Formats: sequence, structure tokens, C-alpha cells
Amino acid sequence: MEKSLERTLFTEGRRLYRNGLQWGFECCDGWFLLLVDLTRNLEKLCENQEATSPMPVMAARQVKEKFGGLRFYLEDAAPAASKLIREAEHKALTICELCGEPGRLCQIGGWFQTLCDAHAKAWVRREHETNNGDEDPLTRGLFRVPPGIYPEDALGPAPLQPLSSKEATWLSGLEPGALAIRWLGGCCMMQVKVTEVTPETILCGPFRFSRLTGAELDPALGWTAAMSGSWIRTAEPD
Ligand SMILES: [Zn+2]
Repeated sequence: MEKSLERTLFTEGRRLYRNGLQWGFECCDGWFLLLVDLTRNLEKLCENQEATSPMPVMAARQVKEKFGGLRFYLEDAAPAASKLIREAEHKALTICELCGEPGRLCQIGGWFQTLCDAHAKAWVRREHETNNGDEDPLTRGLFRVPPGIYPEDALGPAPLQPLSSKEATWLSGLEPGALAIRWLGGCCMMQVKVTEVTPETILCGPFRFSRLTGAELDPALGWTAAMSGSWIRTAEPD
């Protein structure tokens, strides 16, 4: 965030930000007004805490963008403060992080950002330019994440839906070069190309899937053939 905007926020939240923020406000300027509101409201709670409670007054630890959303970490947060933060984090998903215009959570490849239409289009154009020669629109497309579903909440391993017989046939017959959809958290679509097939697995570039269930396999996240936060399905409409 622009330094002069950061200074304004620090001034509005003298108690709240008294320990400083090691990396400043780690998001773009579009969320500045949202953060001013949140800072003023939290500062009032700090003031109140200072006057009435022997407990330590809460202090901000980190403010950043993650998965295209706002994250505001507060030490010794009072319940009223947690509520204000949840509301602001929710609202951030409707404000372009770059310019402050109405926006929506967007995904391109594995990246998320909340953007207005103009900035979403600029992002796609930039992706095309930096990948010149690789103009495959399927793998470079921009997806709008459906409202009310947030990727971070959906990534925990969960039991997979059983495959239909048509899906099972499709999965067992996949060959390198075929296109498929990677469903991240069941909500974020990403078109991928099969790069290698073994008796047990299907590789799509960096992503590995079970050939039996289509589940993405990632031991670090606890994703197995039966329980996963992501899976592969056909790119063909039903
Ligand atoms: Zn914008």
C-alpha cells in the first residue's frame, strides 16, 4: 500500500497499531477506505478497553491479502472486534483491491484477486502478453469464483462424490494431451491439460490426480484418492 495511505491508517489507529506492522499493510490501495472504517471502529474498541478493562488492549499484528481476500490479524481480540473484522473481510471480497470500485473474486490459473471488470480484463491481457506464444485460451482463461463460496474454506480434504459410469469411463480412458477441468475446492474451475498417465495416476503439469477417483493427490494437504480438496472432471458439457 502507498506510504502516505499507510501513514493515515497508523494515525487513525494509534492504539491499534502501536506495535507497528512489520511489513506494513500488505494489500493494494483499493481497500484503503475499507481499512479506514475498520481502523476507526477498532480504535474505538481499544479506547474503551483501555478505560474499562485491566486486560491488555488489543493490537494489530498483520494486515494482508490472501487468496484474493483481506486478512486482519489482531492479538487479544475482543468478540466485538472479531465481528467487525469478519464483516470487513467479507466486504473486501466485493471491492476491487486495485482501485476500490465494485469488484468480485476472480481466479486466473492458481491465483486469486478481487477485481473490478476493467482490472480483471487487464489481468487477462497481461497474462496473454507474458505468456506470448502460449495462447491457449483454455489454460489462460479467467474464472469468476461464485459468490458465497470461498476457496480457503473449501480446501480441506472431504469425501468425494462417487463417479457416474460415464465419468469413470472418461477417467480411465484419459490420454496425454486431453483437456480436463480441475475443480479446486469444488468451486474454482481451472482448465488443465493431461501431460502423463500411469496405471494409478494422471498428471496435469504440476497437479497429480488419482486415476480411480479423479481426486487430486497432495500428501502435504492430506489429499488422498478418497478424501481431497480438489478433483478432475471432464471438460465436456453433459
Ligand atoms: Zn479496479
